[in-house]
Amino acid sequence: MSNAIFSVPKAVNEPVKPYSKGSKDRASLLEEYQRMYQHEPIDVPMYIGDKLVRTRDKRRMAPPHEHSKTIGYFNYGDAAHVKDAIDAALKARSAWSKLLWQDRAAIFLRAADLLAGPFRNRMNAATMLAQSKNVFQAEIDAACELIDFFRFNAQYMMQIYREQPESLPGMWNRLEYRPLEGFIFAVTPFNFTSIAANLCAAPAMMGNVVVWKPADSQVYSAQVIMELFKEAGLPDGVINMITVDGPTAGDIVFNHRDFAGLHFTGSTAVFKALWKTIGSNLDAYRSYPRIVGETGGKDFVVAHASANAEEVATALARGAFEFQGQKCSAASRGYIPRSLWPEVKKSLVEQVSSFKMGSPADTANFVNAVIDERAFQKIAGYLDYCKSQADAEILVGGNYDGSVGYFIEPTVVVTTNSNFRTMVEEIFGPVLTLYVYEDEAFEATLRLVDQTSDYALTGSIMAKDRYAIETATTLLENAAGNFYINDKPTGAVVGQQPFGGARGSGTNDKAGAAMNLLRWVSARTIKETFVTPTNYRYPFLEQ
Ligand code: NAD
Repeated sequence: MSNAIFSVPKAVNEPVKPYSKGSKDRASLLEEYQRMYQHEPIDVPMYIGDKLVRTRDKRRMAPPHEHSKTIGYFNYGDAAHVKDAIDAALKARSAWSKLLWQDRAAIFLRAADLLAGPFRNRMNAATMLAQSKNVFQAEIDAACELIDFFRFNAQYMMQIYREQPESLPGMWNRLEYRPLEGFIFAVTPFNFTSIAANLCAAPAMMGNVVVWKPADSQVYSAQVIMELFKEAGLPDGVINMITVDGPTAGDIVFNHRDFAGLHFTGSTAVFKALWKTIGSNLDAYRSYPRIVGETGGKDFVVAHASANAEEVATALARGAFEFQGQKCSAASRGYIPRSLWPEVKKSLVEQVSSFKMGSPADTANFVNAVIDERAFQKIAGYLDYCKSQADAEILVGGNYDGSVGYFIEPTVVVTTNSNFRTMVEEIFGPVLTLYVYEDEAFEATLRLVDQTSDYALTGSIMAKDRYAIETATTLLENAAGNFYINDKPTGAVVGQQPFGGARGSGTNDKAGAAMNLLRWVSARTIKETFVTPTNYRYPFLEQ
């Protein structure tokens, strides 16, 4: 029986543990890391309905910082597994979509508390080991952000359901928020464990069923996510995880009549290709599929002459190099006024030169490895390019060594060409390019910032002068979906800075906000009339 109107507990952000020297938290997390590291190689199945599916096609998993070490295998599937996953999702749909919303909320609130407690070390250690995040980067992503996604989304779900229309006397108007008619395809990137889980959990929380394809390089922590969902009581078939080649999955999914929505995060090129395919298959579908995609960025920091040079250098050092610059929000281009340049340069070079690089097992390492061989080659190619160009100079870094792990030195490039390749293209690695402008050209530089790249994800203005802040906020209105004043452009927190960008950076449906959840429902309006007319004649017809 459900005869009360319930409220979910008020969401508050999960406190970030500092993992300071000598703390129990640090010791127990590192112990878990070592346990996983020394464990015999694991074998990650696909999760299809109530089955754990294994195939003969085993793909090896290795820590990016030590690629010769095998930590496990995952089972690569084919088109038949994609079909099975869709069937399993559709089979689960009836019971799941009818389950009361508070039961769905309870599952994800339980997942939040399990992750805050018994799953925390496991999820963080998996993210450190297989995605090469340091302790802090793992904690803010795999633990805190994901816990926040679960808790805040439960609250937003309730807010959405409470949104009801007006009713005049004699009637009662109601809105029902139906899950989409079909299944959702979640396609997720390697770089955030929390994003991978949330792209499945958000539509599922709203009553949808999901086929999830994680990135190959995130499968190790993806398994922990599936186990967390199971432990929280998510019924089989609601979220089905398949490890298959993207185009193979796309081929089946995007030709299926019940394909109801795409929840994507990844690169712009892939998202555009998927959208085009969906567009050209429109006649195949029962409904117009919802398309939500958060994609690449070329995120900026603009310093004004009134800024504090140390603050600018620190925003750049943290904004560009945490998690090796592999954040969609990472600062990758900076604009520094000539008068501030000597101080910024000195402080930035000092800070970047002091970074330690190596395995996340040593918490003194600020920088770890980039995700895989492909990323390593791509970023190394950019560094070689910078070295060969007359209009660019490497201030610090510039070297790379892939012999043990995929290590790329955090690199600061300065260029005299505001349209230099690394000022325009997303590199997705630890490479920051700076352009020094004349102080009096502040406004012209802001226009340049706005027009240099196709992306519009994050950006920041560093200044003390309030007029400068106001000018930048106005002129850069469309240059970033997340705009920061006197801060680095990374580190958005669920419930505080809803995240997403526009232009080439995505549909800006703001992960971790009610706006996103609204995309996964289709409202039904119900009008009930209490005294129904019995004659067609209106008063105006009377003679
Ligand atoms: P990617 O585009 O290479 O891969 C993303 C996902 O798409 C993976 O699961 C991949 O296997 C899949 N995929 C690739 N080709 C496919 C195809 N043809 N059909 C179906 N699926 C396909 O991205 P990545 O390297 O994993 O992640 C990095 C990118 O993600 C960067 O561009 C970054 O800016 C972006 N990103 C954006 C946000 C955001 O919120 N805006 C957040 C994180 C990452």
